[in-house]
Amino acid sequence: MFVIKKDISLKPYNTFGIDASASYYAKANTVEKVLYAINFASYNKLPVFIIGGGSNVLLTQNLEGVVINPVIQGIQLHQDDENEMVFRVGAGVVWDKFVEFAVNNNLGGVENLSHIPGLVGAAPIQNIGAYGVEAKDTIVKVEAIELATRKLIELNATECEFGYRDSIFKRQQKGKLVITHVWFKLFKKPKFVLEYGNLADELKKLGEVSLQNIRKAVISIRTQKLPDPAVIGNAGSFFKNPEVAISHFETLKQRYPDIPSFPLSSEFVKIPAGWLIEKAGWKGKRIGNCGVHDKQALVLVNYGGATGSDILELAAGIQQSIKELFGIELEREVNLL
Ligand SMILES: Cc1cc2nc3c(=O)[nH]c(=O)nc-3n(C[C@H](O)[C@H](O)[C@H](O)COP(=O)(O)OP(=O)(O)OC[C@H]3O[C@@H](n4cnc5c(N)ncnc54)[C@H](O)[C@@H]3O)c2cc1C
Repeated sequence: MFVIKKDISLKPYNTFGIDASASYYAKANTVEKVLYAINFASYNKLPVFIIGGGSNVLLTQNLEGVVINPVIQGIQLHQDDENEMVFRVGAGVVWDKFVEFAVNNNLGGVENLSHIPGLVGAAPIQNIGAYGVEAKDTIVKVEAIELATRKLIELNATECEFGYRDSIFKRQQKGKLVITHVWFKLFKKPKFVLEYGNLADELKKLGEVSLQNIRKAVISIRTQKLPDPAVIGNAGSFFKNPEVAISHFETLKQRYPDIPSFPLSSEFVKIPAGWLIEKAGWKGKRIGNCGVHDKQALVLVNYGGATGSDILELAAGIQQSIKELFGIELEREVNLL
């Protein structure tokens, strides 16, 4: 029987460890159960909220509605040709299990995205990315249920309008769809992307360049660098790396000769938000029950007992000082619920 739980704490369901509650919580492992939960919400005139692995959300209040947790499983092969294989993957598959599956089957495309927390269904939402690779490089299409009509729809990769930590699911379609499956193409003769961060150096320690070793190197770097949400509440990078006009960057460079940047186009560069936050003196700073991580300034942490508002207030303080010091607006990466 499908049970929709009433009045539960969402603390175990978000990696920030915020103790907000949900009026109803539905863990749905089939499309039919997701539809049932949507109908239940509609019948009771309640809004729907969606949580996957809860690793990119900040709960700022109790959710007076139905929280749907789509946990549809399955990795099905749909196409196999000389160069690639196409899989239909359930939204509830743990993202890193999918990466492990790909690497174990000698299929490339997602190895650099090893160890990113969360579920497959959320990968298209912010077009997850790491070490020079983004989910969009392998996503073929997305299957979803439209909340308003309860129709099953499909969006191909172009229709998803992927951008840097961005997609249509964070804009026009925000909160309007439940993603049930994502289709990925994986490559039999992958091109390795090793130019980002210290991936190449870490890889040298492991020997030959292979999918298995890239995955190992990425996991090793990430475990050293990022706080484990099981130990200290966090949602990874809290802000996006800002894209700044080259003219503005040149002015900043006169004041801060060591300011790092990555070229984007003839007009824009990307500046690591972590560098700006550290330079502004926030790294390791604690305010009440929350703070800025002492090793990774881009990560805000909950030391225990912080509310969503505490973290939002801290974030606002950081945004204000970055604006004052560098004339740059930091945009949130984390989704507010
Ligand atoms: C330690 C740490 C490191 C991280 N590193 C990275 C990184 O390197 N790169 C990166 O890109 N991200 C990173 N993240 C962020 C996060 O892991 C990803 O954004 C991930 O895709 C979130 O998945 P989730 O299932 O936890 O989504 P959730 O946090 O549950 O949800 C995120 C958003 O997607 C919506 N959503 C979730 N599932 C569905 C669905 N099935 N249908 C419709 N909407 C849905 C939610 O409503 C919410 O708005 C990191 C997070 C942590 C904690």
